Amino acid sequence: MDCIFCKIIAGEIPSAKVYEDDKILAFKDINPMAPVHVLVIPKEHIPSCDGINSENSSYVAHIFENIPAIAKAAGCTNGYRVITNCGEDAKQSVKHLHFHILGGKSLPENMG
Ligand code: 5GP
Ligand code: ZN
Repeated sequence: MDCIFCKIIAGEIPSAKVYEDDKILAFKDINPMAPVHVLVIPKEHIPSCDGINSENSSYVAHIFENIPAIAKAAGCTNGYRVITNCGEDAKQSVKHLHFHILGGKSLPENMG
């Protein structure tokens, strides 16, 4: 499958990893939008939020169980934002479910 994030999981494309376990991987975004910009992805290929179901939602739960520690270890000392883009209107560019953690500064109020 021609998925850039599956290739990162497989180690075929390098990434700046900040957390990894058997289910999930977190790494720095290549084009950061804030001082802290980390992507958290499931190690199973789920295309987007639309692909979450009762069979794979444990990956999503596991991601959110780990987000507070990942965010703090990455340098978010005063809060952070978690975003996932789903589909065309949201401008999802990589079709492998991912959650952006943004922080390290006071973020703009406007999200859309
Ligand atoms: P989306 O627009 O799909 O929500 O976000 C995709 C994100 O993946 C973008 O912020 C983009 O900078 C990041 N990205 C795309 N390709 C790579 C890559 O090869 N390595 C890393 N670390 N980030 C990537
Ligand atoms: Zn993938």
